[in-house]
Amino acid sequence: MTHAKLFIALCFSFCISSISSANDEWTPASYDRRKAIPNDSSAPAKLSPLNELPPLTSNEGVIRRVRLPEGVKAVAITFDMCELDTVTTGCDMEVLSFLRENRIPATLFMGGKWMRTHASRVKQIMKEGALFEIANHNWSHGNCALLSEEGLKAQILWTQAEYELLREESGANDIPNVPELFRLPYGRNNERALKVIAGLGLRVIQWDVAAEAGDNSKPSRAKRNAKTVAAMTKPGSILLFHANLVPKGTANLLREVVKILEGDGYMFVKVSELLAMGEAETVRDGYFSRPGDNYALDKRFGIDGTGRRKPFTGK
Ligand SMILES: [Zn+2]
Repeated sequence: MTHAKLFIALCFSFCISSISSANDEWTPASYDRRKAIPNDSSAPAKLSPLNELPPLTSNEGVIRRVRLPEGVKAVAITFDMCELDTVTTGCDMEVLSFLRENRIPATLFMGGKWMRTHASRVKQIMKEGALFEIANHNWSHGNCALLSEEGLKAQILWTQAEYELLREESGANDIPNVPELFRLPYGRNNERALKVIAGLGLRVIQWDVAAEAGDNSKPSRAKRNAKTVAAMTKPGSILLFHANLVPKGTANLLREVVKILEGDGYMFVKVSELLAMGEAETVRDGYFSRPGDNYALDKRFGIDGTGRRKPFTGK
């Protein structure tokens, strides 16, 4: 083999191995599974963020979708990545690698405690830059209708602080300093919670399409369910999925939903982009599909949604 040929062969094999190792980083690993990482219910290393957002000028309420100009076909795909104080959940790398490979922008609503559990994955996502938008989903899934004012503030600010910590460690400086969007765990709130959240400068984003109804662990079922999800989707919709391996078969469903919506001429944008394209449609009280359909969840996850027996106060 001539020197030139050897050089080309070496370059080629180096390129191939670097491409495959980059992709390997996005394949599911054993530590991504539910409960693979031991639970840690301690407070974060930093309790409040350096970057404080200015309070919102209006308390607009709970955003469920966006009214877009005639003919604009855009939707936002969103994922909740959350866990309680009492348990760890997983990180769905099948979902994340699908989004990354297909360059589908998405908004990821992360719990602060979940971020700490999956710190290396969060930093990896942060280094991906503008493709993913990270938003706040409370520290340990505290129910905003049940938390005290100080408990709610701590749930939000601990999450902002954890994001800052991981952002700094990741070296990603092309992503926002702190999240500016917030999602209510269980979709639950009251007027006091809306005031506190607006005071901390975050906009409340829910959804008009709860995508994961039904079992999607079998591809044939996911295909059927995807048709129902696509039929509920309209221009300006915000779709709710999870990427914490709690609902089963999310990746199966997502692939099918994306296929149908792309075929229907939809484009995918992050929630912040969708908000900039039109006018937010809001309600005062969050819910899944019908007003009041989430009230029963108040009693199912400990005293305040965090799984704890004693109220979370941030102390
Ligand atoms: Zn959640």
